[in-house]
Amino acid sequence: MSIKANIDKLRQSVPPQVKIVAVSKFHSGNEIGEAYNEGQLLFGESRVQELTEKQPALPADIEWHFVGSLQRNKVKFIAPFVHLIHSLDSERLLREIEKQAAANHRKIACLLQLHVADEETKSGFSPDECRRFLAAGTWRECPHVQIAGVMGMATYTDDMKQVRAEFRQIKSLFDEFKQQYFAHDDNFREISMGMSGDYPIAIEEGATIIRVGTLIFGER
Ligand SMILES: *Cc1c(COP(=O)(O)O)cnc(C)c1O
Repeated sequence: MSIKANIDKLRQSVPPQVKIVAVSKFHSGNEIGEAYNEGQLLFGESRVQELTEKQPALPADIEWHFVGSLQRNKVKFIAPFVHLIHSLDSERLLREIEKQAAANHRKIACLLQLHVADEETKSGFSPDECRRFLAAGTWRECPHVQIAGVMGMATYTDDMKQVRAEFRQIKSLFDEFKQQYFAHDDNFREISMGMSGDYPIAIEEGATIIRVGTLIFGER
C-alpha cells in the first residue's frame, strides 16, 4: 500500500483528538513529502544528525518531534526548531535544554520519558527517579522548558496483557504527577505512548499522542 493509503487507513482507526506523530527515521525526504501532501504535519525522528539533515529541506510548517535518546552535546542542533522533545530523562539534560532554549529565545516543550518496560535500556526515568526529579524542583527554575506530560514505551512482546499493564502504569504516573505538581498547569496534558504494534491498546489506556513509523512508511 502507498504511504497515502496507509495514513488514511490509520486515521480511520484513531480518534480525532489523538495526535499521530509519523516516525520517519530511516525514511527519505521524498517519503516524508508524500505523507505531508496527505496533510500529515507531525513527524518524529530519533537521531539528531538525521533530523538536522532533513529539516531544512522540508516544509517549514512541519512540527518536528524528537523521540530518541538525546545526548546533551547535541541539544543545540535541534533547539532552534524542535517542537516537542519526548525523551527528557535527566536533570543534566533538562539544564542543557534550558540553556539552548534560552539561547534561541524559545520555550521548548518536553515530555518526561518513563521507563516501565521489562527491558534493559539506558533511556527513561524509573518511576522513582522521576518522582525524585520532580521533587527536586530544578524544572521550576527553567523558564524556557515546558514540561508537557509523559512518554513511555511498552515491552516488545506478544503478551498484550503485559503491554496494557505497562500503558496503564504510564497513565497512572501521569495522573499522579498531574495531581501533585501540575494541577493548575493546562500545558501538562500529553501522554505519548503506542507505536505500530500496540497503538490501539495505548489509545484505550489514555494516549493523547501515538508515534507510528512502520504502519505509515513500511519496514525500515
Ligand atoms: C521508531 C520509534 C517509533 C515507531 O516505531 P514503529 O514500530 O515503526 O511504529 C516510536 N517511538 C520511538 C521512540 C521510536 O524510536
